[in-house]
Amino acid sequence: MTLALADIIAARRAIAGIASLDTPLVPSPYLSARMGTDIHLKLEIGQATGAFKLRGAANAAENLPEDVPGVTCCSTGNHGRAVAYAARIRGLRAVICMSKLVPKAKIQGIEALGAEARIVGRSQDEAQIEATRLVEEEGFAEISPFDGPAVIAGQGTIGLELIEQCPELTTVLIPLSGGGLAGGVAFALKSMKPSIRVIGVTMENGAAMHAALAAGKPVPVEEVPSLADSLGGGIGSANTHTFALCRDYLDEIVLVSESDIYRAMQTHYFEDRIVCEGASAVGAAALLSGRVRDPRGPAATIITGRNVDMSVFTDIVNGRDVRLGDTTLEGQAYAA
Ligand SMILES: *Cc1c(COP(=O)(O)O)cnc(C)c1O
Repeated sequence: MTLALADIIAARRAIAGIASLDTPLVPSPYLSARMGTDIHLKLEIGQATGAFKLRGAANAAENLPEDVPGVTCCSTGNHGRAVAYAARIRGLRAVICMSKLVPKAKIQGIEALGAEARIVGRSQDEAQIEATRLVEEEGFAEISPFDGPAVIAGQGTIGLELIEQCPELTTVLIPLSGGGLAGGVAFALKSMKPSIRVIGVTMENGAAMHAALAAGKPVPVEEVPSLADSLGGGIGSANTHTFALCRDYLDEIVLVSESDIYRAMQTHYFEDRIVCEGASAVGAAALLSGRVRDPRGPAATIITGRNVDMSVFTDIVNGRDVRLGDTTLEGQAYAA
């Protein structure tokens, strides 16, 4: 892929009116004391849609031809919200395709952002068929959640900001799923500061990019329920950009367990006073569990989003058990 730092700098200009830029980079005194080195948190929870994905979706929407009749995607999570929001600001029609199995609250969330929720079939695959039809028959543009150049460049703007906000950074931990975030941010960071260590972090169950890098190509992985639900899903069997970016620009990948994530969410809440998703807590989970070899600061992790199910969240901060599909994750009261 021919990504250039100039694309990321251009993205920053393009998305300025849609996504929040220069989101805070705040110290975490607790994590810093625990790790014996400075740890900072890049707070993407203040984006209008509650997650960083607005950066990539906004850049994709800004780069569309003038005459496109609308945009589509299949995500009902943070990407779907981002596409809906960015489309509305650009005055574009957005049709978010989803299956009958999607909970009502998610459908209403998308509709509240001004997009049309199109309910098709009983699976994500059937919803995807409708999105593809919109592209092929009605000329819609499909915005990928991670594997598109404009999306990757949009997420990469976080890398520019990290270096500007803390030029001394030596290590950055990035939550990893499809790799649009990790690929874009790692590319930006290494372009500006080649010596920086960039670590992708994901959950040990269903780690699609990790499995793909180990196999040397995208491989199917079974999706398992996780506290880091925003990190679920594959990287696409026809992955064109993020596989190569993650292979070339990530120094390593660290896997964390569900109980590591549970503890890290408690830590962000009680120590940093942050409400965030499981996907956002994997960086702290990697540090606190001792899974990062030789952690050296100043280091930063990205708090990617705050769209957590609040009943699950309150169970976690209260130390209660949490259901994950067919299994139960045993609760534990927070202790510093
Ligand atoms: C999508 C997402 C990620 C991972 O981003 P990728 O580009 O898919 O790797 C991390 N955190 C949150 C909250 C997300 O929504």
